[in-house]
Amino acid sequence: MNIEKLAARLETILDKKNIKINEPMSKHTTFRVGGNAKVLVLPSSIKEMMSVIELLKQENIDYIVIGNGSNLIVSDEGYDGVIIKTSKLNSIKVYGNIIEADCGAFISSISKIALENHLSGIECLSGIPGTIGGAVTMNAGAYNVEIKDVIYYTYVLNESGKIVKMTKDDLMLSYRKSILQNSNNILLSAALMLKPDCHEAIHSKMIEIQSKRVSTQPLNYPNAGSIFKRISGQPVGAIIENAGLKNTAIGGAKVSEKHANFIINTGNATAADIINLIKFVKKTVKNKANIDLETEVKIIY
Ligand SMILES: Cc1cc2nc3c(=O)[nH]c(=O)nc-3n(C[C@H](O)[C@H](O)[C@H](O)COP(=O)(O)OP(=O)(O)OC[C@H]3O[C@@H](n4cnc5c(N)ncnc54)[C@H](O)[C@@H]3O)c2cc1C
Repeated sequence: MNIEKLAARLETILDKKNIKINEPMSKHTTFRVGGNAKVLVLPSSIKEMMSVIELLKQENIDYIVIGNGSNLIVSDEGYDGVIIKTSKLNSIKVYGNIIEADCGAFISSISKIALENHLSGIECLSGIPGTIGGAVTMNAGAYNVEIKDVIYYTYVLNESGKIVKMTKDDLMLSYRKSILQNSNNILLSAALMLKPDCHEAIHSKMIEIQSKRVSTQPLNYPNAGSIFKRISGQPVGAIIENAGLKNTAIGGAKVSEKHANFIINTGNATAADIINLIKFVKKTVKNKANIDLETEVKIIY
């Protein structure tokens, strides 16, 4: 289907302003790199998102659902399909100790609402700059807490287009893994089970975590968090540093001086610079330490 015809079909489902043609993905990833998506859509309800997916399936058009693009690299060549960005699906509701959030709700917004409602459990995750959809898909974690520790249940749009309720066991969450990855299963919403605690304790934990992030992470440069997964529970920053790779640069991409498991965009990086630097770090660590690093960030070609 040509792009004009596709746009016209999408306009029967979405408001025109929520359909972006040839959209630079550098605007939608925290690395600030990436070529154009053929089309990017911003559904404003779950129903709209489901109708878009149904259309794309009928027409055999490739699509990917993204949250805040904080764990993503999109290649410089862009994506020849439709990117569905969930940022407008951001409703958050509180029922006693349970917080139910739609997939595009930010972890930071959920954490703020948890604090306002004196609910504890996600303070350690509060600084993760992504959505709950991305966090569940990645089983995001920080400071010894993972999103799986607080998930009560989720709703998922499965590969046959049905909405199914799934528990954390159904999602098979493990270290930075879930069955949502590399599949057409889409996280629609998640309910988190939290515990009542005093406002002061929750607040001071959040502040402590935030200051740890500021002091250890290069937050003043575009990045995508940790590039590589831990090796048998060990942080890989030290392994990369010991291989002499701190400050190694390719084009505008550089291994951070502050945290060697972060690659930063010093200003004019391309996706290719970052991908080539990732390959170089992997190769060097393999040669020097005989360790196989596994990439945590997702790359869209
Ligand atoms: C400064 C910084 C610090 C970070 N710190 C941490 C940290 O401490 N711990 C940690 O785990 N991560 C961290 N990250 C990485 C990232 O923020 C997390 O992985 C986050 O959970 C990704 O959420 P997102 O909404 O940005 O997902 P995206 O990057 O948009 O997507 C990530 C993956 O999930 C898929 N996806 C997104 N939404 C859905 C959905 N609704 N249904 C199905 N699939 C979906 C995408 O297709 C993609 O494969 C950090 C990143 C940055 C930039």
